[in-house]
Order: sequence, then C-alpha cells, then structure tokens
Amino acid sequence: MEKQELQKLRDLPIEGVAERLGLQVSRHKCLCPFHDDHHASLSFSVRTNRYRCFVCGASGGSIDLVMHLLKKDFLDACHWLADANNVLIQTDAPHGPGAVSQSASTLGGQTPTFDPTRYARFFEHPFLSEPARHFLFEERKLDERVIRWCRLTSWRDRKGVDWLQIPYYDREGHLIGIQNRLLSKGDLPRFRFPYGAQCSIYNLPVLNRLQQGEALYITEGCSDCWAMLSAGHKAIAIPSATLLKQADKALLSTLNSELSTAFHMYPDRDEPGERLFLQLQKVLSNLEHHQLPPGCKDFSEYYVLTKSEKVL
Ligand SMILES: [Zn+2]
Repeated sequence: MEKQELQKLRDLPIEGVAERLGLQVSRHKCLCPFHDDHHASLSFSVRTNRYRCFVCGASGGSIDLVMHLLKKDFLDACHWLADANNVLIQTDAPHGPGAVSQSASTLGGQTPTFDPTRYARFFEHPFLSEPARHFLFEERKLDERVIRWCRLTSWRDRKGVDWLQIPYYDREGHLIGIQNRLLSKGDLPRFRFPYGAQCSIYNLPVLNRLQQGEALYITEGCSDCWAMLSAGHKAIAIPSATLLKQADKALLSTLNSELSTAFHMYPDRDEPGERLFLQLQKVLSNLEHHQLPPGCKDFSEYYVLTKSEKVL
C-alpha cells in the first residue's frame, strides 16, 4: 500500500471512524469497548486524531481502532476503512521501516498472519540505546540478565522517537509477536498493542523451566513481569483480563493440574487490578493474592522501592 494512501486512512477523523464502528461518541468520549466500562473512559483527541482509554490503556489511531475492535489484521482493517469511507486504495504488502510495527498479511486472508522471519533477526543481537538503558537500568533498576533473557532491543524511528521493542515467544522459543514501548516522553501512547496473532501471554518460555510445585507469578503487562523476574521469581504477564483468550486460560489450568503450579499475583492497586485478579481466580482457584503496600500502584514501583531501600 502506498504511503500517501495509508495517510488518507490515518487522517480519517477518529470520532467518525468510532461512530461507524458503532460507538456512541459524546463530548469526545465514549464507553471503552476494550474493557468492561461504565464511565466513558475512552477519549478522543481531535488534535492528534487518536483514541485512548485511561483505564485499560488501549490507544491508537483510526486503523488501530478498526484492527482491535473488529479483530482484523492491518491490511484488512485498511480495506474496511477504505470501503466504509469511500477512499480508494491500492494494496500491497507493508514494507520499509514503518512496516516493523505492522503484521504482514495475505490479501483477504481470514486469519491475521505474522511473519517472524522478517523480524526475528532484530532480536538475535539485541541493542540497547542510551534511552533504553536509562529506562531499564536506572529508572526501573532491572537485572541485566533478565533483559538479556527477554531479548529486549531498541530502535529509533524516522521521526527520531526512541522505542523499546519487546519480542513475544511461544513455549518453543519461536517469535510470535512484537510490542513497542515508547521511551521518550511525548504525546504518543506509551505502549502499542502487541502485533502478531497469538501473543497474549508474555514470557511463555519460562514455563519450560518450572519445577513441580514451583511458584509462578502472574503480572499485568510486561513491565511488571521484568520487575518480578528481576526480583528472582518466575513470572509471566497477561494483557488486560478482557483480552485473555480461552486457550490461555486452558494453558494455565493445565499447568495447575500437571505441575501443581502455585500461582501468585500482586494485583495493581486499583479497581481493574482487583477485577483481573478475581477473573483469574475463577480459572486458577489456588491463585494467591498479595497486597502491594500503600503508595505503590503496581509491582514495578514496589520493586524500585525495595531496590532503593537496600542501597540506603
Ligand atoms: Zn478501556
């Protein structure tokens, strides 16, 4: 697809796109379709032409909204947008540096495909830029061995914006998806959704190292997972509970029955955190609840605090 044509789709007014998708927009807000929302948490910025949910963190532009709401891959979402808005586009597989953040797909294919051969090499020799090292080792005080295990790498896009690139692997160690996290401060959303069809649990390879009866910590999102690993625990991360697939729940139940895995969780100190815990507890009846101390909203903050106290 040509860049100019893609831009036409990105420039479609985000609120109009939302309305075409059936969302009821009022005063630049609507109920968030990505979590169980009762307070119109999703807001639209007319200036940046993006949406963002302050509860579950969902964010993006017009194409992202179609992709995530209709569960379409990138090209199918572009086609849908073009059709719905009478924009004429010429199609081709995504290419160039910008394509890094988009999953390639076959035209008209039913299932989104992710071609790991295009991206696997980025993670073979991970490179951490200065902003990445600052974030990981100074701000978050993470263990270098954990970052190597997770194969985090960094890159700078054509606009000079620094990103941390997070690979998702299956249990056999095959790359199945990629997530980008913003390193610099700015208007952009901090996290982009993981791209790739199957990446809903993060750090699956750690499951192969689990011993009988060993503890497994479950975190919400990969940042907390890195902190948990750095604290010496085996950990996986899951996306928001609404995005947890049936297959993931089945996998966790299997661990429970086969390895007698003891599950632990430090839910975020907020309502969605507690809700996620309760939802997971329905699948994992032995999931143990740990309370974060007051003033720590998530495990990353708690971890940084414990590291600083040891230094003092
Ligand atoms: Zn939301």
